[in-house]
Amino acid sequence: MNIVLATRNHNKVKELKELLSDLPVQVLCCTDFPGCPEVHEDGATLVENALKKARTVATCTGLPALADDSGLEVDALGGAPGVISSRYGGVEGDAQRNIARLLKELKGIPEKRRTARFRCVIAFVIPGTHEYTVEGVCHGRIIEAPRGTAGFGYDPVFLDEESGLTFAEMEAQQKNSISHRGKAMQELKKLLHHIIRQ
Ligand code: IMP
Repeated sequence: MNIVLATRNHNKVKELKELLSDLPVQVLCCTDFPGCPEVHEDGATLVENALKKARTVATCTGLPALADDSGLEVDALGGAPGVISSRYGGVEGDAQRNIARLLKELKGIPEKRRTARFRCVIAFVIPGTHEYTVEGVCHGRIIEAPRGTAGFGYDPVFLDEESGLTFAEMEAQQKNSISHRGKAMQELKKLLHHIIRQ
């Protein structure tokens, strides 16, 4: 089975190829299909955005397509920044501004009320037949000042309570083993196993 990943991000393609290396699937990406349009991520939820991206690529290529969308949900902020995580500080993809706004919004909120989770949704669309979504969640707490230099996005302020480390203080392998994306990928693998067996 050929599967197209709805991204031009080579790291995501590489990660997925490794994960699915023991399944009879070939992973392609949008750069293999230059006609595929960019998708505007304007959905109200992570599920809507992931499905929108996967549907667009499935329709455009005629092949099964995969897309993911992730975000940070903070309890004391009613689940914000959620679907707008990448532009919470006002500039798309500017992690420093995103963290600055997050810490400002949480100023004065005590440690035990700073609970949060990362959520990752992966949508898998087989053109004209089936649509599936799987998700992975990772619980933690937002600390008051950034710690660590690895990773990206909100990693320096997201504390894993069990290890006492922020995601930015972990080796990539340690983060992947507990992260929302790692868990969603494992769910995806189970789903694809199931579909291929049928
Ligand atoms: P994406 O859907 O994977 O591009 O994630 C959207 C946004 O959520 C990113 O731009 C980050 O701000 C945030 N985010 C998602 N996953 C992570 C993570 O593992 N660490 C830190 N921030 C993340």
